[in-house]
Amino acid sequence: MARARVLLLNSAIGPLDYRVDREHAVEPGSIVLAPLGPRQLAGVVWEAERMPSDAEVGDNRLRPLTHVYDLPPLAAPLRRLIEWTADYYLAAPAAVLRMALASASALDERRATTEYRATGTVPDRLTPQREQALQRIGERQGLVRELAYIADVSDAVIRGLVKAGAIEPVEVAVDDPFVPPDPDHAPPDLSAEQAAAAATLVAAVQAREAAAFLLDGVTGSGKTEVYFEAVAEAIRAGRQTLVLLPEIALTEPFLKRFAARFGHQPVAWHSDLRQSQRRRAWRAIASGEAKVVVGARSALFLPYADLGLIVVDEAHESSFKQEDGVMYHARDVAVMRGRFEGVPVILASATPAIETRQQVTLGHYAELKLPRRFGPATMPDIAALDLLRDPPLRGRWIAPTLVRELEANLARGEQSLLFLNRRGYAPLTLCRTCGHRFQCPNCTAWMVEHRLTARLACHHCGHVMPPPAACPECGEADSLVACGPGVERIADEVAALFPQARTAMVTSDTLWSPAKAAEFVNRMEAGEIDIVIGTQLVTKGYHFPNLTLVGVIDADLGLAGGDLRAAERSFQQIAQVAGRAGRGEKPGRVLVQTREPGAPVIRALVSGDAESFYAAETAARRHAGAPPFGRFAAIIVSSEALDEAVAAARLIGDSAPEVEGMAVYGPAPAPLAMLRGRHRQRLLVHARRTLDVQDVIRAWLGALDWPKGVRVAVDVDPYSFV
Ligand code: ADP
Ligand code: ZN
Repeated sequence: MARARVLLLNSAIGPLDYRVDREHAVEPGSIVLAPLGPRQLAGVVWEAERMPSDAEVGDNRLRPLTHVYDLPPLAAPLRRLIEWTADYYLAAPAAVLRMALASASALDERRATTEYRATGTVPDRLTPQREQALQRIGERQGLVRELAYIADVSDAVIRGLVKAGAIEPVEVAVDDPFVPPDPDHAPPDLSAEQAAAAATLVAAVQAREAAAFLLDGVTGSGKTEVYFEAVAEAIRAGRQTLVLLPEIALTEPFLKRFAARFGHQPVAWHSDLRQSQRRRAWRAIASGEAKVVVGARSALFLPYADLGLIVVDEAHESSFKQEDGVMYHARDVAVMRGRFEGVPVILASATPAIETRQQVTLGHYAELKLPRRFGPATMPDIAALDLLRDPPLRGRWIAPTLVRELEANLARGEQSLLFLNRRGYAPLTLCRTCGHRFQCPNCTAWMVEHRLTARLACHHCGHVMPPPAACPECGEADSLVACGPGVERIADEVAALFPQARTAMVTSDTLWSPAKAAEFVNRMEAGEIDIVIGTQLVTKGYHFPNLTLVGVIDADLGLAGGDLRAAERSFQQIAQVAGRAGRGEKPGRVLVQTREPGAPVIRALVSGDAESFYAAETAARRHAGAPPFGRFAAIIVSSEALDEAVAAARLIGDSAPEVEGMAVYGPAPAPLAMLRGRHRQRLLVHARRTLDVQDVIRAWLGALDWPKGVRVAVDVDPYSFV
C-alpha cells in the first residue's frame, strides 16, 4: 500500500502520514488536501526520511488523502529552502510552507470568479456609509470582502449597494495569460563601466552559476539598467527572474520603468493584490509562464518553475527583515535560494550593509563597482547645517539657511525634498497644565498626533483615539501641546513659509497602496509638486531629474537609541535621501541639519569618505564580536500577565546552557516593555560566528515548558532590539 508523509498547513502539528489510494498519484512536492479531524487541510508531500514524524501510525489506521491538486509539485530546491529556513530561523516548517503556497486562493480550481465594481449609478437611498463606500471604491474591483475592506464599511453595506444596482458583479477569468517581456525591446547604450559589470552578470546567468554578486554603485550610476541586462539574458534563456524590492510603494514606478525597457510589465506580487490577481500570479509563477516577477519579500518563497536569476534591489534595506511570524531576512534567504536553485543572485545597493561587504572581503560574493553617476549627472554637494549656530526660529524646525535655499530653488522652478523619519504631526502630546502625557494603553509608547486624520495613534499597535478637548488627567480645557516635529508639522511650516508652493507629503499614511505611489510619481514627473516632505519612504529608488535640493531635518534622530547598526543605518538613510538630489542635468545640493556636525556619520557624509566611515564601523563591530564577526539571537518572552512573562523569562535564563563561545544576557524587560497588551522580556544570546547557536537554542528551549499564555519567539540575527 502506498503511504505519503504530508507537511500540513498547520504550524502546531508535525508532518502526518496518509494513505494514497489508487486514483491518486503523488510524488515529493505534490500539493494535496488531507483530512485532519473533521477538517480538510492543504499540505505538501515530503520525503519521509527528511521530515521525521512523531506519530508513527500503522497502515490499517491511516486515513486516505482527499485530493491531489492538478498543480506542479513544489520542486526539490524549494523544499530544501523551506527546510533550511525553518532550521536556521527556528520556525515551524509549516509556517515557511505557508509562504510558498501564499494563499488558499492559489489552490482554488475554478477558472473564473465573481468580483464586484461600481456601476456609476447613484442609489436612491444614499446613506453616509454608502457614500463613503462608493467614493473610496472608485474604479476599484474585488470580492465583496475586499471592497468592504477598501471602503472601511461592513460587507452588508456592499451587498446593499449590489441590490440597489450601484455595484455590479463581473465575471473575471483567472487564467488570463501574461504577455512575456521582450529582452530586446529598448536596450540602453551602456557606458564602458556599466557594460563591464553587465557582461559579468550576463555570463553568470548563461553559466547557471550559483554565485552572489554585490552590485555596488553610487546613487544614479545605473544599477537598474545594469541588472536589467542580466534579466534580459534570463528571459532569452526562457528562465524566470525574481526582483525583490524593499517596499511595495516602489513596485509601481518599477513596473513602469521595466515596461519602458522590456515592452511589457512584469508580474507584480505584493500584499495589495486582489485574491484573483494573487491566484493568477501564483499559477503563472508555478507554471513558468510568469517570466519576471517583482515583489516584496514574500515573493521569495513562491514556487518558481524555472528560476534563472534573483535580484535584491536596495539590498541594504532593513525592511527585508521580517519582524513577525517567521523572522527571516529576505536578503540572506535570497542568497540561499540562489544556492539551492543553482542561479546567480545580485544584491544591488549604493550603501551596502557591513554584513554584505564582509562577504565580499571573505571572497564569498563578487563585487561589481559603478563609481560614477550616469551621463552628465554628478554626485550632489553635501553640507552640514549646525543647528546650534544657525537655529530655526522658535517653534520652527527649518533653519534659516535651508529656508533661503528652498526659496531660491522655488524661484528657479526646481523641486526640493525635506526628509524627516517621523510620521504624524508630533511624536508626543502633553498637557501644559499638569504634564500628563498621552500613552498607548496597549504599548510602552506615546500616542502620536495625526492632524490629517484628527487622531492620536499608536505606531506599534494601531490603537487610535480622537484628540480630547480637555486633559483627561486634570480636566483643563485646551491645554494640550504638541512636542517635537513629525512630517505633518514640517508640511505646516512649509505651507506657512511658502503659501504658493505646491507640496506633497510622502509617508506610509499617504502612500498606502501602489496606486497612491504611482499617483505621487506621476505628479512629481509632471512638475506638479515643488516641495516633497517625506519619511524614509522617499529615500528609496526614486529618480526625479528636476529634484535638486534635499534637506535633512534631523540627522541626529537615527543615532539615538544606540542599537548596533544605528550609525550605519543613519549613514545609509541620509546617503540614500541625498542620492535623490541632482540625478538629472542640474547639480544637486544637500543640507543636513544636525546638532553634532563633528559626529563620524555626518563627517563621512559631508566629506564623501564613506570608506573610512565603514572601516571604523567594521573595526568596532569586530572588536565587539558583533555581526558579521559574531552572532546574536534574541529570545523574546511575552504574556498578557506580567508575572508569567517574568517567570518564564527567568526560567529560560536560569536554564541557559554553559557553552564555550556563547554568552547569554538577561532576561530584562524589553525597551518596548509592553506591546499590543503583552508584557515583554528579552534575553540576548551572543555567540562566536562558528557556533551553531540554533542547535543550542533548540535543545535549550525544547527541554522547557511554560504556561499556555506565554509566547516565546526566537529572532535569529536580529535587526530590532526593542
Ligand atoms: P541607480 O539604480 O544606480 O540609482 P538608475 O539605474 O536608476 O541608477 O539610473 C539613473 C538614471 O540614469 C535612470 O533614469 C536611468 O534610466 C539612467 N541611465 C542609467 N544608465 C543609462 C544608460 N546606459 N543609458 C541611458 N540611461 C541610463
Ligand atoms: Zn499601542
